[in-house]
Amino acid sequence: MNPFLESGQTEGPKPELPLRVFAHLDQSERLEGDEETYRLYFDCVDARWITNESQTSDSSFAENVPIFILQVEFQADDTNHPFHDLLPFIRFHRRNAPWLSLAISKGATDESPRLYWNLFSEVSESVHVVREEDVAGDSLLRLRHYSLAGDRAATDDELVDTLIWVREINMAAVYDVGQGSCGALLDRKGSVLTYLDFGGGVQGHARTFPGSLSQFCFYNNPPIILSHWDWDHWSSALRDKRALSATWIVPRQRIGLVHWTFVQSLKAAGGNILIWPSQLSAIETSEFEIRKCTGKGTNHSGLAVVVNDCESGEQILFPGDARYSAIPGVLGSVFSAIVVPHHGGWMSSKRVPSCSGSPGNRLVYSFGPGNTYNHALPATEANHRSAGWAPALERRTSGLRPNLGHVGLPLSGVPPIHSLPCRAGAGACDLQIVQF
Ligand SMILES: [Zn+2]
Ligand SMILES: [Zn+2]
Repeated sequence: MNPFLESGQTEGPKPELPLRVFAHLDQSERLEGDEETYRLYFDCVDARWITNESQTSDSSFAENVPIFILQVEFQADDTNHPFHDLLPFIRFHRRNAPWLSLAISKGATDESPRLYWNLFSEVSESVHVVREEDVAGDSLLRLRHYSLAGDRAATDDELVDTLIWVREINMAAVYDVGQGSCGALLDRKGSVLTYLDFGGGVQGHARTFPGSLSQFCFYNNPPIILSHWDWDHWSSALRDKRALSATWIVPRQRIGLVHWTFVQSLKAAGGNILIWPSQLSAIETSEFEIRKCTGKGTNHSGLAVVVNDCESGEQILFPGDARYSAIPGVLGSVFSAIVVPHHGGWMSSKRVPSCSGSPGNRLVYSFGPGNTYNHALPATEANHRSAGWAPALERRTSGLRPNLGHVGLPLSGVPPIHSLPCRAGAGACDLQIVQF
């Protein structure tokens, strides 16, 4: 396992700072407030190492490659900022942001950009960054190898053979994983039939992951449907490593080296990766649907899940981090329950789907207590309330801290489950539903 992805090694000695990194914009988060301010996250690799590397296989490369995440705060009107030219990629999710070459040295103040060397550690170094000429030539070719481009798409049969076991759904669930996302569809005994993301708090938000959650439910060998390639949506697979050997249904998106290294960990552990075929707009069973999102940028171009409550005809929406307008058929539809996109973060549009008006209506926010984005944002809560989702319908995964706050969304016509999801004993999991 690459040390960057080891969830147990957060206290070890700091590695040396790389002198130069190749960096690729992986995520940006618009912060609350009147100023247009973003926190940018760059996926980084030690430039000297990758230029000289002579690993014989992808797997040994993935074990050893020195990867980092660089966090930078950036105000859109700061025209002198070294990353100002990235603004269209941030604002409009334009594709093909350049690979940057950055010279790194120890930073002076706490205001500086910060470099992280473990996905699960808040420990980071304040760094000074000088931007050099963008990466080109052989180095660029080399970096482009570390993507999903060489992996074939899944066949329809492979997807159907996996999803056919996700049936007789009794309840949907949204688990308390801190600042991140992990949901599931459960069977009549309360065991997981499929996960909808498998994330949790990372880096500066690692402390928001609850200490009392260590065992997820693998009684039914559930697959994992990944909404999109963000660290906080798959990171818990490195906390409960049984997830590494599961079947993963994933969107084909541009990924950085941290994601790519994680993909190699899945492959090494026997995980089966089913990449969503580019022509496929949706897969539907009688009980739920996976829809391909049609927006731009990682958050808005992945997979969303709609659960059909066969008895009542109502629907539950798991949008991942996608805005409602990026999920076909969602605006203009009525839902009995929604997991609010993007942890209750910034919404570029105020439009929200309607609430069905039945007693089971719920609006679930999945975010970590004390997160530095201030999720759930009051403006996002207000948008939902004015669309008819009253405060009494809201549930927060972190609302019962210091206790776990897993939320259950029962389908109609079946009594909700109050017992432990897995059989008691050694295999018992920590996914007991405690809020409805
Ligand atoms: Zn995201
Ligand atoms: Zn997210």
